Amino acid sequence: MKIAGNIPIREVEENFINIQPIQAAGRLTAEAMKALIVYGDGYSTCDQCRKPFRLDKITKPPIAEFHNDLARFLSMDEARVTPGARRAFQAVCLALVNKGDTVLVSALGHYTEFLAVENAKATVREVPTNDVNIVTGDAVAQKIEEVTREQGKSPALVMLDHFDYSLANEHDVVGAAKAAHQYDTPILYNGAYTVGIKPIDGKALGVDFVVGSGHKSMASPAPSGVLATTSEYADTVFSTTQMIGDVTGRQFGVKEVQMLGCTLMGGNILAMMASFPTVKRRVQEWDEYVAKSNYVVDALLGITGNTCVSEYPRKHTLTKVDTTGSFDTVARTHKRRGFFFSDELKQRGIVGAFAGATRAWKLNTYGLNWGQTRYVADAFKEVAGKYGLL
Ligand SMILES: *Cc1c(COP(=O)(O)O)cnc(C)c1O
Repeated sequence: MKIAGNIPIREVEENFINIQPIQAAGRLTAEAMKALIVYGDGYSTCDQCRKPFRLDKITKPPIAEFHNDLARFLSMDEARVTPGARRAFQAVCLALVNKGDTVLVSALGHYTEFLAVENAKATVREVPTNDVNIVTGDAVAQKIEEVTREQGKSPALVMLDHFDYSLANEHDVVGAAKAAHQYDTPILYNGAYTVGIKPIDGKALGVDFVVGSGHKSMASPAPSGVLATTSEYADTVFSTTQMIGDVTGRQFGVKEVQMLGCTLMGGNILAMMASFPTVKRRVQEWDEYVAKSNYVVDALLGITGNTCVSEYPRKHTLTKVDTTGSFDTVARTHKRRGFFFSDELKQRGIVGAFAGATRAWKLNTYGLNWGQTRYVADAFKEVAGKYGLL
């Protein structure tokens, strides 16, 4: 069956348990799917757009209310939707960072943070992790001092991932925020792997910006994301246009420069809104999802030779494990090489483990119910048993 021409149907979520690292918490709710279909026309959001003509002011459908809800959800003062977390990093960098400035990111920081800094013609400096792969407040303070000594001024911004993309270790955001503020440096909280799955209180964390990814963690279509900030920084990052056309004298009033006017239109924002009641509910169940994550990781650790590369016990559903001492020993002689492992999982209805990978690889158990959790754990044990690894 094709959607049109040679575009195939995708039926991953319908037919399999998917433990793919970046897909797990982005998969859509049924409500988001409905919104995508009905509001798929890009400017459908503009049916009832009235003065002052800005996306976040539209009341029918209740987009303005959604923006207020988002800010409250993150305990921040103002929020905007953005085309992904990366565009939120970009907006903050373009607003706060000047050419030649330095921005601190973590040594486990995401590549999109690097690009956002580069886009603002500034330079990244990395805060090293400690011996257990955690970024501490002290390390942030030390790096700020180092940069300040070198350059005669403190970094323009600190960006820190609460849980990094690589190990999903939890980094010391509160300590980092204290350190940054001691040097009058604003701090951006990268919640790509938290906002939408774990309760986040931006004020309690002491951060100036909270960024989330809709398609990573808010059951929303790509691209979608959120940028929330305090009243202190709202006017800077959401500054309005000052341009005047020299021929026509035209001005565009309340359009926000860093947002390029309106951001998410049509099905994107409506699907995000349609998933939001589920998202608000599910963040309260985070501890349960972490327990399920530990259940699966424990099953993997029960297989001789396996190690957990991420911090353990797990505080997140995304985990990097190393199976060099187990599944990889099978891959060395198996005719399918490393693919034997993903083959075995697929035969058991599980996809999302990187095909061919049997050394260090990542899995994300977010969204599994207990039945599925036990099933995945048993499947790993079963595959191990089949090859005499237990
Ligand atoms: C996925 C990810 C991003 C990028 O998010 P987008 O919404 O796709 O732009 C940024 N940072 C981290 C830590 C991520 O895991």
